[in-house]
Amino acid sequence: MSTTASVDTTIQLIASGVTDGETCSPDLADGPWVFDLQAPGYGPGASMADPIPASAPRQGELPEEYRTASAAELHERILAAKAQLGDRVVTLGHFYQRDEVVQYADFVGDSFQLANAAKARPEAEAIVFCGVHFMAETADLLSGPGQAVILPNLAAGCSMADMADIDSVAECWEQLEELYGTEPDANGRVPVIPVTYMNSSAALKGFCGEHGGIVCTSSNADTVLKWAFERGQRVLFFPDQHLGRNTAKAMGIPLEQMPLWNPRKALGGNETAVMQDARVILWHGFCSVHKRFTVGQIEAARAQYPDVRVIVHPECPMPVVDAADEYGSTDYIVKAIAAAPAGSTFAIGTEINLVQRLAAEYPQHTIFCLDSVVCPCSTMYRIHPGYLAWVLEGLVRGEIHNRITVPAEVADPARVALERMLAAKPNTTMAA
Ligand code: SF4
Repeated sequence: MSTTASVDTTIQLIASGVTDGETCSPDLADGPWVFDLQAPGYGPGASMADPIPASAPRQGELPEEYRTASAAELHERILAAKAQLGDRVVTLGHFYQRDEVVQYADFVGDSFQLANAAKARPEAEAIVFCGVHFMAETADLLSGPGQAVILPNLAAGCSMADMADIDSVAECWEQLEELYGTEPDANGRVPVIPVTYMNSSAALKGFCGEHGGIVCTSSNADTVLKWAFERGQRVLFFPDQHLGRNTAKAMGIPLEQMPLWNPRKALGGNETAVMQDARVILWHGFCSVHKRFTVGQIEAARAQYPDVRVIVHPECPMPVVDAADEYGSTDYIVKAIAAAPAGSTFAIGTEINLVQRLAAEYPQHTIFCLDSVVCPCSTMYRIHPGYLAWVLEGLVRGEIHNRITVPAEVADPARVALERMLAAKPNTTMAA
């Protein structure tokens, strides 16, 4: 892996004043354990402003030997542990993961590709998932019963996933049932179908499984919405308002029929008449990374590179998606760049680790992130090589740290919702 792709190296150089440039927080240059001592939360950077729910898992203190080890020592220890463990362990790395961790991954991909990669290795006793919490849960749902899914740092959550908790969604559902009733219309369509984005807790996937709903990814959201409208008069979409709005708008649903549901207000903060007319009820959630992209950044990219191809992720706000040339999932972005003629210029609106890696992998193109401020997904960033060394060496000793287990009463209906998604569009590739 080329070192020019390393976001961490870039941040270290900026924080130490060696190079010019801007990062959203110099705290990113420290180990995650330093930040935990100062102000436990999602981590420095884009997610700082998002309140962390009390129910989010907390990571215990990483043993000192891993906190103080040099990068070179951790590298040797991780390689030695992986060699000892062999096929007993599979290590997965998300597209948004830092290069210092991704270099040890047996598979790199989006969340659903990685969950399927785990499924494809039934002989592995443990799956070390270098992503965030909801991804490890999905891997647990799809992996075999004897396989342990491990998240190296429990504080690697997702602020967007945490914006929709099961209690708030259940309360919303009660209000919707009161408003719309529960009886199907003359065409057999129920009043509301719940749709959850893959970036949500297993509890919400289970809620959808139990209430006739379904899961979607950023690759198949339109297919899933069509599935839902065949069965329901309207959709409750959570947690990402932007993916929901961008997808529904592209299907021709007017914005005025997409009210935003604020879980802290009665009827989500909407008038009854508005709710009666609603087609897609959007949960008040967002990704703090993709929310950073703006129309102004796109205009600046076009001014500098008139031939630039602007591709953004559908978690970006609607005006940004509208101003871009194309939008699509991480998988779409990767494939678009791979298929482009040499000498193409791309401005990309997604997480910086993926963008810098693509820029290093395709030197024949000019590829840059729309946002010039270096600001990675700070929750994904909490998987530092020190945590990876800790869990791998634990496995060598027969100790399992940080196992993620979805209880059966949640897992069974969650799998139903995932299976509905696969049946809605088989063989699809997925997710942010
Ligand atoms: S990029 Fe956004 S949606 Fe993805 S894990 Fe990070 S905070 Fe969550």
